[in-house]
Amino acid sequence: MKGAPVSEIFDDIYFSAEDGVAETNHVFLKGNHLPENWRGGDNFLIAETGFGTGLNFLCTWKLFEETAKPHQHLDFISIEKYPLHPDYIRQVLAPWKDYFGSRLERLCENYPICVPGFHRIQITPQITLTLIFDDIHDALPEMEAQIDCWFLDGFTPAKNPDMWNENLYTQMARLSHDQTTYATFTAAGDVRRGLAKAGFSVEKRDGFGRKRDMIAGTYQQGRPKVEKPKQKKIAIIGAGLAGTSCAYVLNSYGYDVTIYEASDHVGAGASGNSTGFYNPRFTAQRDEVSNFFAPAYAQIIRLAKQAGEDIDYNPCGALHLINAPEKEKRFHNLIQNWGWDDAHAQILDVDQASDIAGIALDHGALYLPDSGSVTPKKLCEYYARGIDVRLNTPIDDLEALDADAIILCNAHAVQKFEPLKWLELETVRGQVSVLQETELSKNLKCNIHYGGYLSPSLDGVHMVGATFQKWLDHTDIIQEDHQHNIENLKAALPVLEREDFDVISGWAGLRTATKDRFPVIGPVPEQDNICVSTAFGSHGIVGSLAGAHYIADLIRNGPLSLPASTRKALNPNRFIDRAKKKGIDLLKTSK
Ligand code: SAM
Repeated sequence: MKGAPVSEIFDDIYFSAEDGVAETNHVFLKGNHLPENWRGGDNFLIAETGFGTGLNFLCTWKLFEETAKPHQHLDFISIEKYPLHPDYIRQVLAPWKDYFGSRLERLCENYPICVPGFHRIQITPQITLTLIFDDIHDALPEMEAQIDCWFLDGFTPAKNPDMWNENLYTQMARLSHDQTTYATFTAAGDVRRGLAKAGFSVEKRDGFGRKRDMIAGTYQQGRPKVEKPKQKKIAIIGAGLAGTSCAYVLNSYGYDVTIYEASDHVGAGASGNSTGFYNPRFTAQRDEVSNFFAPAYAQIIRLAKQAGEDIDYNPCGALHLINAPEKEKRFHNLIQNWGWDDAHAQILDVDQASDIAGIALDHGALYLPDSGSVTPKKLCEYYARGIDVRLNTPIDDLEALDADAIILCNAHAVQKFEPLKWLELETVRGQVSVLQETELSKNLKCNIHYGGYLSPSLDGVHMVGATFQKWLDHTDIIQEDHQHNIENLKAALPVLEREDFDVISGWAGLRTATKDRFPVIGPVPEQDNICVSTAFGSHGIVGSLAGAHYIADLIRNGPLSLPASTRKALNPNRFIDRAKKKGIDLLKTSK
């Protein structure tokens, strides 16, 4: 007999006290005719209500590996409103440590930090997990997928009536096809009636252990399952963060990827900075913008931990100074609206912030302990390992490429291709300064962001940046820009006012951005097999990897790793739609 963990919020157990694994096998796997139902197809997609300890997922993962053919892929989406900590998961699933083998540890190591949103985790080349930390009723309407099979878990309807309602069944129907199955441990009358009303058949079966009945069934009204022909050869234009991250993700799914790069190395252009900081973009509300950047931040943290020294991962934490009334409001609202766990974002007063910084500050701050820096060029090299990268190969004619799909990742130069001639992009020059540490500045322990930024001293130097010049489009070093960076730094950190900073060197790059300050990621309008990923502004490290996962979903016809509202906000189409409202046909006027 194995013990069962209990939820204090719901006063109910996560799985059967008799034997959790046996219950999962009986209710969810056998109840959905698994493994028989994933035999024959290429892709199988399960959606679960309530990830809890991940026990159902682990059992499914194990069964899939034991029964699926090497070409088959499993996607598992699970929605969880109250994520458990991976240490707790390790503890409660310890009785099955041997049964799951290395899978349990792998899950815990890849578990996202506790921030709401869609978290995409590539578990193995064959298994992809999308963990959505949110309420089911907020998450389901944002999902874009065709589900093959539902695991209706969630605490018992009597203890969790808010979850088991009509909206759940209607959303299930929207996301199902004509052979979708479901199974659930409960046989409650309301659930049976709700599912039947939404178009699902309802069969009573023997329940597990002391439960007399459970129910299972199929959706019998939907469209047929859509299988798209698989594209195999992918050409990527540009070997910066956007291009190499797309190559990395597609390669992990087994695609044959080639990157074409005009310059003689990866990480040219804006991805060539020696120190890049990773932070989400801060919005007062939880909206389609934060729903992109917040999980993307969680994702780059997981990857950076894995890559470690290879990319100069330095998770020293970041203080974002509250040095303007506008920030005071935005950061406080953010803390209220984003729903992040305190362990990952906190507002600190000036004394607490100074303690963390190791030097005296004049302002309180938003503190992100997981934030830090990596070397973007090394990150590009890490992503590009094992990829066929053709350097010194500028591409002018997309039609000449031997590929089933093309991804344009060459920053502002995406506009030089006919299908994106109409896209309005800006470049914003940024110069950073490498400054010799001083007796005082070397005490700094974390990154400080204040409009500009200052990194702690590493090998005796600080990275300070950056200028923001829309009007310049060259990357030559400008001496006055160094002075500007130093003045900005001293204005934000008066404790350093009297320090004499020697400039050791500098670097300048051109960021690509849009007018609405949101990246452009998605299918190129009016093209069948061309996608674009560009315009990350100052958020290339964080945004490019999440963008790459989404692009890979489009290519593999998988469930989307982003909420629908975020997907729409990223879509290049948005500019065409906005112009249309003003009576302008962008596609025509650019021809
Ligand atoms: N499938 C889980 C496993 O393998 O461990 C057990 C799930 S447990 C019985 C139910 C889960 O549903 C809990 O983790 C709970 O937090 C989650 N949950 C309950 N109501 C929810 C809601 N409205 N939205 C999202 N998750 C919810």
